[in-house]
Amino acid sequence: MIKVFTSLRVYTEVKDSHKRKNRFCITCGNIATTEALYDVGEGVELIEKYCDTCAKQLK
Ligand SMILES: [Zn+2]
Repeated sequence: MIKVFTSLRVYTEVKDSHKRKNRFCITCGNIATTEALYDVGEGVELIEKYCDTCAKQLK
């Protein structure tokens, strides 16, 4: 799968408990503060969450 990075946006924690499983940085496990959006083709958008530190390394 080819991921094309498109943008970053601020991630605000969702109060809904059913969605809280995704609030951690996928790289280091810290609390996520940023979402990175990727285009994986065919109109599909992939969102990955990162903490401040890891998000800076994406740019
Ligand atoms: Zn991190």
